[in-house]
Amino acid sequence: MNAYPGATGARLPRWLLPDNWPIQDAQPQRATLHFHAEGLQFEPDSAHPPAGYLALNGALVLPALIEPHAHLDKTFTVQRSPAQQPGLLAAIAALHRDREHWSADDLRRRATQALHWAVEGGVGLLRTHIDWFSPDAPPAWQVIGGLRHPLCDIERVALAPLTFFANSRDAQHIAAQVAASGRGALLGGFIHSSNWDAQAFENLLRAADQWQLDIDLHIDEELNADAQGLRQLAHYLQESPFNGQITCSHSCALSQQADAHQILDVLAQQRVTLIALPLTNLLLQDAVPGRTPRLRGLTLVKEAQARGIPLLLGADNVQDAFCPVGSYDPLDTLFSGLLSLQLGAAFDEASALICQRSALHAGAAPIGNDVVVFPDADIASWPLRQRRRYRLKNGVRYALTAGEQTDGA
Ligand SMILES: [Zn+2]
Repeated sequence: MNAYPGATGARLPRWLLPDNWPIQDAQPQRATLHFHAEGLQFEPDSAHPPAGYLALNGALVLPALIEPHAHLDKTFTVQRSPAQQPGLLAAIAALHRDREHWSADDLRRRATQALHWAVEGGVGLLRTHIDWFSPDAPPAWQVIGGLRHPLCDIERVALAPLTFFANSRDAQHIAAQVAASGRGALLGGFIHSSNWDAQAFENLLRAADQWQLDIDLHIDEELNADAQGLRQLAHYLQESPFNGQITCSHSCALSQQADAHQILDVLAQQRVTLIALPLTNLLLQDAVPGRTPRLRGLTLVKEAQARGIPLLLGADNVQDAFCPVGSYDPLDTLFSGLLSLQLGAAFDEASALICQRSALHAGAAPIGNDVVVFPDADIASWPLRQRRRYRLKNGVRYALTAGEQTDGA
């Protein structure tokens, strides 16, 4: 296996560079990357490139991308089980009908296809939620737990409706099974006005803390100003310490709540991560038959960023009753976010939203020994017109798209 000791001529995004990084012609100077066993280091290119380094010639380089929020158990089912009406609750009903098809083979085939699409996009870490239909782990928990890919770590979140936590024995039972699943398994929950139960929510948080689990919640995926999930989470965290990492996916209701800024202040203090899902939020929020949507349905990304709250963008559902389209390409998600959230410079600023590992794993280095390279080097078009890409992992080049060379096979 041919491994490069490093690479020269990498155009890194400004968010990754120190303030004193040299600027040439209004652009950051290209970087030399050193792939050390203890991690990646970089410095401005020098006049004399080190021998044996791969020449990137100004190619755009990002840390390996992250898909922080997927549903590999539901994906690729829209052809056989489309939603009968617009909106979130009709999609849930359609997926429940589809479950009769969920044999181990069916789950494995669909989840593997999703994983391959994500890896083709440059994803090195994929977090998938998996629906639980009772307090006992569903077959999909094991099937997807058995998936492996040399270029992608997979994390599983137990997505159980809040009602399953109403009884603290059940809450403990769910958390115990997640804890027994080892690294990369998290506790989750679907928390919505339609199933709100303050005691159940407290049971969920206490069970996660007792079993030392990180959590990732589907929370307040609605535009109801009375949604209680994040409000109660902020209240809980002010009273009770929580040792693990908390991630809140969706949080759409914040955009309608008069006390949103106070809630965000608490989340910032507690280093809670937010994940916005622009594709499905645009599609499912403010969805009324025969009426053009008036609201975007997205959480308060800019207000969260202003407070230093870690933040990522995810794809959410792909080709199922929730969302009939989707590609598992984080660049498609980012493009949607660039417009719907009116984000800043795509590559130099917004790209952090699809590759910052510390948002999910506090303390992770901003860039590890695993990067994705966009050889067309067209920064003005990025993230559009960027089909070609490859990975450099521990110095080994892996083709992701046709026409790129693999040195690591
Ligand atoms: Zn989701």
